[in-house]
Amino acid sequence: MKKIITIVGARPQFVKAATLSRQFQIAGIDEKIIHTGQHFDANMSEVFFREMEIPKPAYQLDIHGVSHGAMTGRMLEGIEKILLNEKPDGVLVYGDTNSTLAGALAAAKLHIPVVHVEAGLRSFNMAMPEEINRILTDRISTALFCPTDTAIRNLKNEGFDNMPVQIFKNGDVMQDAAMYYAGKAQLKSDILQKTRLRKFILATIHRQENTDNPDNLKNIIAGLTEINKEIPVVVPMHPRTRNILAQTYKLPDFTIIEPVGYFDMIMLLKSCDMVITDSGGVQKEAYFFGKHCITLREQTEWTELVENGFNILTGSDTQKLKAAFETFKTKTSDFSIDLYGNGKAAEKAVEEIRKL
Ligand code: UDP
Repeated sequence: MKKIITIVGARPQFVKAATLSRQFQIAGIDEKIIHTGQHFDANMSEVFFREMEIPKPAYQLDIHGVSHGAMTGRMLEGIEKILLNEKPDGVLVYGDTNSTLAGALAAAKLHIPVVHVEAGLRSFNMAMPEEINRILTDRISTALFCPTDTAIRNLKNEGFDNMPVQIFKNGDVMQDAAMYYAGKAQLKSDILQKTRLRKFILATIHRQENTDNPDNLKNIIAGLTEINKEIPVVVPMHPRTRNILAQTYKLPDFTIIEPVGYFDMIMLLKSCDMVITDSGGVQKEAYFFGKHCITLREQTEWTELVENGFNILTGSDTQKLKAAFETFKTKTSDFSIDLYGNGKAAEKAVEEIRKL
């Protein structure tokens, strides 16, 4: 493939795309980025492009603030127009957002090969919009890059062995990002000095199943409020969660800050005592930086973290959350086991992509 169009739109995709973009430049492959606009605030988008030195998007679709169907439909239309004009050799999509599905679908209908990075992951919860996006994207892709053996197994179980698709295990590109940017973060971030944080727990909440379900959100807030009495809890709050909290609740006692850039996030992950999250990416990053993680979901796509005792799933249950906190407060683990590759996932993917 000589000319690639990459589709991004949401925060986790910026982090993942940074790793492949760097390798495309090294390999001399022409990459043009379409930013769908799903995340658009400076601290949810622009900061990642700047800090991680991601090439400026060639196209900005500016689509956000509408329902899932409207968003996916508008993206599909916008991306199709660009693809007809650009005629790329392949379209690259990441993860499981509406931008992922729209990009894959627009390309597949035009018979342009689709490359899906972070393929094969499953939560087996079809109520999650992300699960729908990832299953459909995998099914219409030409090349699937899987981070784990579990992801490869999931695809086999769904019969992908008998489909005209290439499947690779390349490792996790988020591990690449964590390793590559950790040194830069140490030099550039002043979040620890600014916030004067020392002993603290880092928490993030933004999954729709938690933010849009008042009982779940109330139970999580109750759990974090209890834990905060013992160790300060700091939440860089996603705009979706903040909007809902502002409408519904009095602001909780724990510390809420604006979403932070990737360098600040790395420093928070490195320095915290423990992580509590419903994010997919942050569960892995906790492990990359040697921290136990409590996951505010009933399932995870990253099952190896649970199997190895690094992660406990509590859903939104206040009691389970407190019990997991008690367990991890005194537990020590050896995080040196290699679950996600050695930081070469993007390099491996680009090596294969150029042969497609
Ligand atoms: N992240 C960040 N600042 C924040 C919260 C998250 O830089 O305030 C990073 C996080 O470290 C990870 C990515 O954003 O690299 C994950 O995105 P998110 O949790 O939004 O999405 P998910 O992984 O759940 O799809």
